[in-house]
Amino acid sequence: AAAGGGGDLPLIPANQVILLARLGEGEFGEVFSGRLTRGDSAVQEVAVKVLASAQTRLDFVKEAAVMAKLAHPSIVRVLGLCENKRLMMLLELCPLGSLLDYIRQPARQAALTDCQEPLYRWALQVAEGMQYLEQRGCIHRDLAARNVLLADEGRAKISDFGLSRAVGADTDYYRATQRGKWPIKWYAPEAIYYRLFSSASDVWSFGVCLWELYSLGEPPWGDLDGVEVLKQIEEGCRLPQPRLAASDLYNLMQQCWAYKPEDRPSFDRLQAWFQHVTTNVYEN
Ligand code: ADP
Repeated sequence: AAAGGGGDLPLIPANQVILLARLGEGEFGEVFSGRLTRGDSAVQEVAVKVLASAQTRLDFVKEAAVMAKLAHPSIVRVLGLCENKRLMMLLELCPLGSLLDYIRQPARQAALTDCQEPLYRWALQVAEGMQYLEQRGCIHRDLAARNVLLADEGRAKISDFGLSRAVGADTDYYRATQRGKWPIKWYAPEAIYYRLFSSASDVWSFGVCLWELYSLGEPPWGDLDGVEVLKQIEEGCRLPQPRLAASDLYNLMQQCWAYKPEDRPSFDRLQAWFQHVTTNVYEN
């Protein structure tokens, strides 16, 4: 087994894994549900990400190595790597799939329009997971509703660490070098212009993720292209108030979209805000 700093990234024997159904398609290849039968014959339902091209092997292994160091209820756990013709990443299964797909279902939309409590709980859980990453100097760089998965109705988990990076001890910033497909509509201006990523640029993305949640999965900025979105941001325009977001929450989103990174709240503060709402408004 390859050790990875804090957490282990075990190599799982191929005969312990069977693939069941196709769940989706990711950047690296297909994702399946599967069953892991360990040596002690304990059986576990898992998600299996299959690497499609050998060219991205290093990035794939890096993603798994980053995830192996993270242990938090709001972060999808990696269980190990497995190789059998193709390289596979075994992940904790989130049977309800992505939060984005979930909130787009008409029946869910009716229920969430009646009561927003689940939205606040998922937002709190994502904020807690991001606070954990912030404390560890880990930048996600791809926080969006499509990358939040549901383990069950009451538990949201951050996934897709394909773009994530650890920042150095001397700086809070990571300067990205590689070009590729970037989620511009989720990105802070300094990330777009200077490729400067930090927990503060993750906070901007968290704001967009909140906007997606409270608009029940609408695409941010509709069909505007990246250049047009940037122009809006420069002119001080921001995404409009979602129907289900009260004005204090919309105000919080707008703080996440402060132009200067240092003017944005930390995940510490965001977590505390959602903690306060969920305990004071919804718990009795
Ligand atoms: P991408 O690289 O496109 O951002 P992923 O490769 O992480 O996305 O996943 C693609 C799809 O596979 C997701 O949208 C989701 O439907 C499914 N998926 C990924 N990981 C899991 C998991 N742990 N549990 C359940 N479904 C998953």
